[in-house]
This record gives sequence, C-alpha cells and structure tokens, in this order.
Amino acid sequence: MSSANPFVAALRGRCPRCGEGQLFTGYLRLAPYCPVCHEDFRHADSGDGPAVFVMFAVGAVVVPIAFILEFAAHWPPWAIVGVVAVMTVALSLALLQPFKAMLFALQWKHAAGEAQRVDQGRPDDEA
Ligand SMILES: [Zn+2]
Repeated sequence: MSSANPFVAALRGRCPRCGEGQLFTGYLRLAPYCPVCHEDFRHADSGDGPAVFVMFAVGAVVVPIAFILEFAAHWPPWAIVGVVAVMTVALSLALLQPFKAMLFALQWKHAAGEAQRVDQGRPDDEA
C-alpha cells in the first residue's frame, strides 16, 4: 500500500499510511493504531518537537505585530500585551495539533527512531 501525502494527511489529522483513519483520539493524544488500515502508531513519538516548531511559528507572527502596534500604531502597552497574549494562546492551540500530526507523519514516512550508537556494543554483547 502506498502512503498518503504526509502533509495532506497531517492537515486533515489522518493516518499517514492510508490517509483515512483518524490520527487523534483527543486534542493531542494519538490513537494506538489506525482504525482503517490498522497501522500501529505506538512506535512513533514526536516528543517536544511540535511545541518547538509552534513556538518559532507563533513568535514569527506575534512579535512583528507587537512592534507594529507599539511603534507604528502607538497603542498603549496594556492593549499590546492583551492582544499579543490572546494571539499567542490562540495560535499556539490552533497550530499544535497540525504540527504534531506533521511531525508524526514525517517520522512514520521516514521510519525515524531514537538515535543509537553503533560503535559501542552493550557489555552483554561481548563474547
Ligand atoms: Zn490508516
């Protein structure tokens, strides 16, 4: 079975393999397996990666807006803080699920796993 486009599947919150099954059972909780193609999702873990990318994306949007409101529109500081705080929370909550789905889909597509050293064997590997 060919895999679905990871970007399209992620934006739709769908399985990266078939593109049909729901990826999430909660806001950020991944399903243990795809309900359509039964692909196992338990081996992949995006960890803190989605939050880091969301911080970069939201910061790139919110910080210039704060500067524009301060230096071009001359808003009072309390209004700028209020607008920026609401925008930061709203954008972060809106982007976290698609970013998590995107990282999971790319991790699944490229069979990425935890890095391991291969130059040193475990002590019980030695004969
Ligand atoms: Zn599937």
